[in-house]
Amino acid sequence: MTRLNNSHACIACARRSDGLAVGRPQKLGWFCLECGPDIARKALYMKNLDAVEQRACEKVAAEAGQEPITIAPSELPAFIAWAVKEFAETMRKDLDEGGAPF
Ligand SMILES: [Zn+2]
Repeated sequence: MTRLNNSHACIACARRSDGLAVGRPQKLGWFCLECGPDIARKALYMKNLDAVEQRACEKVAAEAGQEPITIAPSELPAFIAWAVKEFAETMRKDLDEGGAPF
């Protein structure tokens, strides 16, 4: 989990943290004020991606194409923003269409 012990990113939503954290010194979950400590604590103790999240990752990767991808460093921020947005949209579509959570 790359957001663990990352004082710059909210452990729950990945946006910028507001400098507060939950957890222990070796395992801190920093959070933004929008998410707050309760959600941050839940995110801190979450395990791996669940089946819906894993399926969304696979679908977004498939949307990116089957060919090797080369991304210029200047285009990487836009690609990451696209992938994060598509991840959330794909999960919503999947669940709205009745996709089983397993
Ligand atoms: Zn947040």
